[in-house]
Amino acid sequence: MPSGHVLAHNRDVPAARRTVVAVLVTAALACGVVLWHPSDRFDGVRRLAGLGADRLLPAPTVVERGGEFAFVRTQPGSSEPVGWDPCEPVRFAVNPDGQPKGGAALVDRAIARTSAATGLEFEDVGETDLRPFPGGYVSLGTDERLIVGWGDAAEYPELGGPVAGLGGSATEERSAGRLEYVTGSIVLDVDAFTPAAIAQSPRVMEAIVVHEVAHVVGLAHVAEPMEMMFDSSRGQIDYGPGDLEGLARLGSVPCD
Ligand SMILES: [Zn+2]
Repeated sequence: MPSGHVLAHNRDVPAARRTVVAVLVTAALACGVVLWHPSDRFDGVRRLAGLGADRLLPAPTVVERGGEFAFVRTQPGSSEPVGWDPCEPVRFAVNPDGQPKGGAALVDRAIARTSAATGLEFEDVGETDLRPFPGGYVSLGTDERLIVGWGDAAEYPELGGPVAGLGGSATEERSAGRLEYVTGSIVLDVDAFTPAAIAQSPRVMEAIVVHEVAHVVGLAHVAEPMEMMFDSSRGQIDYGPGDLEGLARLGSVPCD
């Protein structure tokens, strides 16, 4: 058995597989999504009063850095990315079932780094019993919009082989035909995120979570190994130039 550090390498979602997951989630969402949001009422009042919705955190500065990035989805007929509404918090909940020692801190730090890079506010709504990718989507009637959990290949066949995590989001059509992410899931492989691997290589394991959260907010894989969105972990622990530009663009989409 290789060490935890070796196990961490190349345990990521191959592009084709991740795309399949995203497509499946989106398809399921289209059948069952609830379009009404409790906050819509107040947004409507704000618009009548001539007030746009307000960002919760300042928009990030988009700097062209010459790196590589790609978006999971773009708006129909446009190269503009699909993102989460920056005027709503991304409410996330962690399912602690199977969570390894040290795992909670990895998730917290990865979410904080994503928030800093995107200007999206993430709100921790506590623990949940929901599993990631629960039947394809999260009901919009619940608090949680992003479910983070721990699993294995018996429950998630996509985690077989070298894959260490899965991350993806599902869209909903909002005003003027614009798409927006409204639910997402991350599952982290307990066979890769062992307590030993986390203890020996905390930054590398954290980076895998950062990569999965980046999928959730809308970044796809790139072919450049220096970027976090390269499809395998080669020990990179910091965002590359393309990651930073792509995340800043995703966090700069207009409010719904
Ligand atoms: Zn990936």
